[in-house]
Formats: sequence, structure tokens, C-alpha cells
Amino acid sequence: MNLGITALGSGSGGNSFVVHSAGGNILIDAGFSRKELIRRMLEAKVNPESIQAVLLSHEHDDHLKGCRIFCDQFKIPLCVSFETWNYLRRQGKNKLPSNIYQFVPGDKFEFAGMSILPFTVQHDAVDPVGFVIRSKEKQIGFASDLGAVNALAKMRLNNSDILVLESNYDIDMLRQSDRQIHLKKRIAGPHGHLNNIDAIEALNDLLTEKTKVLMLVHASSECNDYELVRNLAYAQLEKMRRNDIIMKVVEQDRSVETIILDKIS
Ligand SMILES: [Zn+2]
Ligand SMILES: [Zn+2]
Repeated sequence: MNLGITALGSGSGGNSFVVHSAGGNILIDAGFSRKELIRRMLEAKVNPESIQAVLLSHEHDDHLKGCRIFCDQFKIPLCVSFETWNYLRRQGKNKLPSNIYQFVPGDKFEFAGMSILPFTVQHDAVDPVGFVIRSKEKQIGFASDLGAVNALAKMRLNNSDILVLESNYDIDMLRQSDRQIHLKKRIAGPHGHLNNIDAIEALNDLLTEKTKVLMLVHASSECNDYELVRNLAYAQLEKMRRNDIIMKVVEQDRSVETIILDKIS
């Protein structure tokens, strides 16, 4: 078996993804309670005991929530950037598990037979990262909270077999929402979240002939609509003559069935 992914759910209410490889499984983010994480895993037929490590993209609660208790229960490490670890440690709110693996963005490390490269993204957190995960020539590119697809993100996410990219909000829906002005500015700013149009446009650069799977994630519950994201993505894939790509818009309240690369015909 080569690389695969199970999206357990995504949005401002919680994010978590299982990455599968021949050497075992890891989680990217654990932004649900431990109980909810385990419930979603079992529903998606993933054994929680198969998880060998949790990667943390940044310290926001929708990514961090279940990390401590899940890692402690299964005696696995939380892989966290040094800066994020230091920030959480100083906060002293008991959010860190006992087993910690510190990484530095830009430096590769390995878990479960996978090579993991964290890279810096533009987002309003202490030291936010996306991940490039490789196993046997296959690659997952992951960036779930980012204000812009900058040159580094383009370089890292390019050429992925599975691309996971944020498509957070519709510009008009955000403008018309009841949110306060400062919050609207934060979300739409270069260190906020990626809107649908920017996400769809980025596909021109990010999709290559290698790409088999596209997951659009972290859609806002108030300022976006899953159907709208799906339609935009299908239209773009049509335009690029890439209807062969499996496209999923990951929702908040349900997981997406496991996709394993070498089981795709
Ligand atoms: Zn965030
Ligand atoms: Zn988030």
C-alpha cells in the first residue's frame, strides 16, 4: 500500500486527517475532543491504535483540541514546531501531551515510514505550517489555514498526488455576514484564511499530471457553502480538462471515506 488519506472532518469547529502508509498511520491535527476523534475514526474504519504520531499545523483550538488527551492515551508523540511548543508551554494551560517531538519548519523528519517536511505558511498563529508527506515516490501536500498561496506554498504543494487545500469563505458571504469589521479584516487579510476564488485559482499552479486527489477543506459554516465550493471546483477541473481528479469538499460534520492512492484505478 502506498499513501492514502481519511478526512475525519474540517472547519472552524475542528480539523483532523488520517494519513495512511505501508509503515503505519499518522494524524494531521486533532481538533476534536478525544471521544469525537475516536468516534469518527471508528466510523471511518480506522483503528485509533494504528496512529503512530500526531502532527500539529498550528495552535488554534480547531487543530489542537484533542491532541493532549489523544496522544497521552495512545502514548504517541505530538509533532509540533519548537516555537509553537514553546508558546503552549509558556501558556501553561496543560495543552501538551507528555510525549513531544519538536520540529523546525523546513527540516524533514520521519514517522511511520513517511518523510514529513513542514513548511511555513501565512496565518495568524505563532509558527503555522503546512506539510509535505512522502512515501514511495508519492506525495501529499497539505495546507489548511493560510492567508495566501505564496511562492513557498506553491513550491511545496506543487506536484502532489493528493492535494489538501483550504477553501474557507465566499467573499460576498463574508462581506454580508454579521461578523465584526476587525474579524472580517483578519479573515480576509494575508495572514487569515484563503477564499474560494484564490483557492480555485491556485489550482492552475498546483495541479500537475501527478495529481489524483483534491480535497478542499476548512469551509466556513457561516460564510461558505459546500455546494458552492463543489461547483466552483468542478468548473475549474472542467476548464483544466482534469475531470479525472477525485475531488472532495470536506465537511465539518462527516468524514470522507478513506482514499488510498494505489487503489485508485
Ligand atoms: Zn488557524
Ligand atoms: Zn483552523
